Amino acid sequence: MSEKSPRLRGALDGIPTYKPGRPAAAAEGGAPAYKLSSNENPYPPLPGVMESAVAAAGSFNRYPDMACSALTAELAEHFGVPQSHLATGTGSVGVAQSLVQATSGPGDEVIYAWRSFEAYPIITQISGATSVRVPLTDGDVHDLDAMADAITDRTRLIFVCNPNNPTGTVVRRAELERFLDRVPADVLVVLDEAYREFIRDADVPDGIELYRDRPNVCVLRTFSKAYGLAGLRVGFAVAHEPVAAALRKTAVPFGVSQLAQDAAVASLRAEDALLERVEALVVERGRVVEALRGQGWTVPETQANFVWLRLGERTLDFAAACERAGVVVRPFAGEGMRATIGEVAGNDLFLQAAEAYRKEL
Ligand code: PMP
Repeated sequence: MSEKSPRLRGALDGIPTYKPGRPAAAAEGGAPAYKLSSNENPYPPLPGVMESAVAAAGSFNRYPDMACSALTAELAEHFGVPQSHLATGTGSVGVAQSLVQATSGPGDEVIYAWRSFEAYPIITQISGATSVRVPLTDGDVHDLDAMADAITDRTRLIFVCNPNNPTGTVVRRAELERFLDRVPADVLVVLDEAYREFIRDADVPDGIELYRDRPNVCVLRTFSKAYGLAGLRVGFAVAHEPVAAALRKTAVPFGVSQLAQDAAVASLRAEDALLERVEALVVERGRVVEALRGQGWTVPETQANFVWLRLGERTLDFAAACERAGVVVRPFAGEGMRATIGEVAGNDLFLQAAEAYRKEL
């Protein structure tokens, strides 16, 4: 056998692997365990989704509609945007990867805040471009002035994650508009709004309003979080024509299954039930944040479906304590941990674990 192996691109060397939130194993004594590690929605699919899924199953021998026509039409109507400004993909992470591929290659720079969504460094490196990470402020918020200062003539794309994963913090209208005014017209700004539906701060702008008169702004949304379809992998971008067209060119052909397309349409039509569930999670978020603060923790204001504790060197120890109590959270070693707002019983267990840990300090 030849000693040679196929030549792989050097750009792949050292790519950090995406660490998905760990699943929940049964806790000590066999008690139920809760997975609060992946920002999933604890509710089952919205009304109408199961029926559409069962119906779609009858056509599994067929390829899906490659253009996602029905979903695109529904999204255009729902958000009041032209169909030509929409592009769908395998989760918003799939669309984000297409955006990087469409704009950036070797020698180009992609700017994002850090810490932020862990897929950004991965998809940037895969494309061969260089990551430029701009630290969050002391309050764990995007430092938009520093991000604008980091722009060079090699910058091709900037991610602004609003609310930011994993901190839950937001950037508000005035600062975001000031930032967008500073970005050159030939640099794409991607407003990643995966958690948009959970925002209750009226000063946080809707990216879909901002993009309208800014051809270099693209908004990313997903059905994975508020809509509860993480397992079906469907997300979309709203962007002006050249960018949306480029996304359609770079997307994996037939990437979004018919099941996912039909379920997404059914979910968009279940708006009332969606709003009710999201509101219940927002109320629960308020309860969790208040309880943590009552225990003495510093919790940054979160507008997403998760909370962040900056625990530094104690992070892994805290996560292990949660796990022993039956709750899996998402630790970032040496930095902090993110816990999703899940079902009430899971949130209660998390709060109990946090309180017990606090008392030991
Ligand atoms: N953007 C952000 C900020 C996220 O947190 C996530 C999910 N972790 C995604 C995008 C991707 O979600 P999906 O691919 O399921 O749409």
